[in-house]
Amino acid sequence: MGLFDDVYFHCPECGEIVETQSKAGECSLSTYWEDSVPVEIGVDLEGEHVYCAGCFNSFIIETEEPIARVRLKLRERE
Ligand SMILES: [Zn+2]
Repeated sequence: MGLFDDVYFHCPECGEIVETQSKAGECSLSTYWEDSVPVEIGVDLEGEHVYCAGCFNSFIIETEEPIARVRLKLRERE
């Protein structure tokens, strides 16, 4: 059995809890809610389809904000 992390959402239609899993992070059987997911897991899950067992709607996972970026700079070579 491979390890994974669980990510939970609230269904925007009926409020039921929708669960999905990712193997992109540390896979330490951690649990994350939709509003606080590690970046690597968010990137992994973006575009995935999930189904709500409460109202039978299907949804696509998308990132709420642009994924964090790093600032680069040029440094003179020695
Ligand atoms: Zn629902």
